Amino acid sequence: MKQYNVTSIIRKKRDGIILSDDEIHYMIKQYSNDDLPDYQMAAFLMAAFLNELTDNETEALTYSMLHSGKVLDLSQVNGVKVDKHSTGGVGDKISIILAPIVAACGVPVPMISGRGLGHTGGTLDKLESIPGFNVNLDIKRFEQILTRHNLVLIGQTEEIAPADKRLYALRDVTSTVESIPLIASSIMCKKLAEGIDALVLDIKFGSGAFMRKKENARKLAQKLISIGRSFNKEMIAYITNMDQPLGLKIGNWMEVEESIDCLKGKGPEDVMEVTHQLAGAMIYLGKKARSIENGIEMSKRSIEDGSAFQKLVDICTEQGGDIEYLYHPEKYNQSVPSFDITSSSDGFISQINAYEVGMAGVELGAGRKTKEDVVDPVAGIKFNFKVGDAVKKGETIAVCFTNKEEMVEDVKAMLVNSIVISTNRPKKEPMISAMLTGSNLQR
Ligand code: URA
Repeated sequence: MKQYNVTSIIRKKRDGIILSDDEIHYMIKQYSNDDLPDYQMAAFLMAAFLNELTDNETEALTYSMLHSGKVLDLSQVNGVKVDKHSTGGVGDKISIILAPIVAACGVPVPMISGRGLGHTGGTLDKLESIPGFNVNLDIKRFEQILTRHNLVLIGQTEEIAPADKRLYALRDVTSTVESIPLIASSIMCKKLAEGIDALVLDIKFGSGAFMRKKENARKLAQKLISIGRSFNKEMIAYITNMDQPLGLKIGNWMEVEESIDCLKGKGPEDVMEVTHQLAGAMIYLGKKARSIENGIEMSKRSIEDGSAFQKLVDICTEQGGDIEYLYHPEKYNQSVPSFDITSSSDGFISQINAYEVGMAGVELGAGRKTKEDVVDPVAGIKFNFKVGDAVKKGETIAVCFTNKEEMVEDVKAMLVNSIVISTNRPKKEPMISAMLTGSNLQR
């Protein structure tokens, strides 16, 4: 590889001059080899933050980070491999419902998920609340299970996009996280490393989302699609509402419990609407449906005929989980101390701030404040109401479960502040606000 002067690459980006692919590859290669110190990479990141990377620069960065580690080759697994990426939220258990549905409809889903981050939960922490469920599989076993069941659910390995891991940690401490091209390349390098053919994106906006504004969620979706297309991947993105928690349950085991309800046809409306839409798109991209609508019908049928629930049972068995808890979720630890949040007046629930609820969940023990914290699988919050519901003074709006008695008063205050009750019924916001398949917004 040609040698470059790192200082002049940083200066070029600082001055708004577009970098070549080779210059970007050089920066990432040198950094990965420990031949470029953190302070120079931090300066580069700040320059890239202030003078946004162009589409071409973003693709070059994605390519370099993708190839800093292993890129899975799943060509020997039959079928069009499709995954979903969600930008995360509160009560977002959709992967646990969606992945078995899509796999049951015949589409291979090689799903690599993350842990909870800040106020948002993570699929891995949720799956690990099922006693015995193992998310740490090697690549060989990953392929074996995928071939056998059309589905495998694992965590990020050290081998996948290691440059992104280092860069993300550096961005976190240098205030360079919130750049759409940097976020998009970070997300896509990990997804592309999974060996997928197509990807469905759930880009959330609202109080509990990474992107608070719909406009920014749309920009991120467009950037992700443009990167995916440059790597010849089929992409469909949905912009979805995360202004209140998804469903009624927040917390690792409680979200598995709600996912079981969903797979048995008893799920909350908002969760099912988003799940079926994403599933329809995945089944369509996986070439098992002739349209997204047809995919949605297949998704609904897989719940009615029990095949989606059976797929979760199969994958749980294969990955070491105790399926007794899937059949009898009520057996799970039933002696968790709880306390209620009650309504202070008659009226309508007009807001449940998802960010505040997520942070309350962290305080109860459902999430982490530091990387080293251990999550408590039984901690969480169960809501009895959604935004728009009528409530009477004294009624229980939510029940909180925690083993941290010392947090009760703080969490009560947080939740009381996060819930707004008004005299008028608020307007119902749609769950799915847009679908993007390219640069043109549809719907
Ligand atoms: N998630 C990622 O994987 N990367 C980012 O930069 C932000 C969110």
